[in-house]
Amino acid sequence: MKTIKKNIYTSLALCMSLAFFLSCSEIDNQEIPIAKTAYEYFVEISGIPRCTGNEKAASNYLAEFGRVRGFEVFQDEMFNVLMRKNGSKGREHEPPIILQAHIDMVCKKDNNVIHDFEKDPIIPVVNDDWITAEKRTTLGADNGGGLSMIMAVLASHHISHPPIEALFTTQEETGLHGADFFDVSLLNGQRLINLDMIGEEAFVVSSKWDDGPDLVIPILARFALPDWPYKADSPLRDTMAEVFRSFYGKEPVLAGINNRVAGVECLVFANKMPNADMISIGVDIMDIHTPYERMSLSSLNRVYDYLVQVLEVL
Ligand SMILES: [Zn+2]
Repeated sequence: MKTIKKNIYTSLALCMSLAFFLSCSEIDNQEIPIAKTAYEYFVEISGIPRCTGNEKAASNYLAEFGRVRGFEVFQDEMFNVLMRKNGSKGREHEPPIILQAHIDMVCKKDNNVIHDFEKDPIIPVVNDDWITAEKRTTLGADNGGGLSMIMAVLASHHISHPPIEALFTTQEETGLHGADFFDVSLLNGQRLINLDMIGEEAFVVSSKWDDGPDLVIPILARFALPDWPYKADSPLRDTMAEVFRSFYGKEPVLAGINNRVAGVECLVFANKMPNADMISIGVDIMDIHTPYERMSLSSLNRVYDYLVQVLEVL
C-alpha cells in the first residue's frame, strides 16, 4: 500500500505543478492499484480465514478488491461475489467470458498442530517448487489457486481480454451451496471457465467421461442435479485446445467430473445455464483436502500464462 500512496502523492504534486497546462485526468489514472502476480494474491487470500461457511471476510476482501478498481461488484446473501471488468481497449463489445472459482476451503490439520482456522492466517511457504502451509494444515490451494489467477487477470493493466465476469462462489465443499443460490440472471456471458480443476494437463468437459469411475453419481444424487452433457460443439473448448497445443506442445487430456472429482460447480451451472459453453481447468495440486496439501508454483504460473493467452484469442 505504501507504494500506491507514494504514487498518488507524486501524481498530485506533478498534477498541481502542471495544473495550468494539462488536464490531470491522465495523471489521476496512476492511482489505479498496482497489479500483483497470482502467487502474491494467493499469499494475500491465504491470510484471510475462509473455511466453508466462514467466507464473509474473504468475500468482503474480494468485493473491495473489485470496488477499488472501479468494477461493478455484486455480493449476495451467501457472500458470492460477482464483478465485471470491461474488455480491454478495442474489445469492449465482445461477448463476456465468465471466470469462476470458489472462495471456501476445506480446513484440516494434523492433531498436534495449533491453528485456529476461524482467525489464524495460513502462511504459504515454498520449498523447491511446492507451496505448502507453514504448519501442517490444508493449504487452500483448492480453490485459492483459481481465485488468485482470476485476481491477477482482473488486476492486470496489460492483458488483452474480452469483458470479464469474475464469479467467486461460497460453500462449494459442503454441497455447492453458493453456486446453487447464485442468481445467474446477473451474468451476461454464456462462456464459462471454471478454475477448480486439479492438474494442468487435462480439461474437464462434462460430468461423465469414458468408463471412469462413477464418482459423479453420488454427487448428482445428493444435490439432485442433472447431467453436464458433453457438447460436441464447443468453440470455447476448441480455442482452449488450440492454445494448449501451441503452449504445451501436446494435446490436452479430456476428462469428466466422474474421473477427476473437480470442477463440480459446473454441474450447477450446466443446470442453470444449459446453453453455456463451459470448461474446467486447474493447477497441479497434491494431497488435496489434507494437511499435506501442496501446489506447484511453476504450475500456477504456467496455468496463469496459459489463461492469459486464451483470453487474448477468445
Ligand atoms: Zn474445489
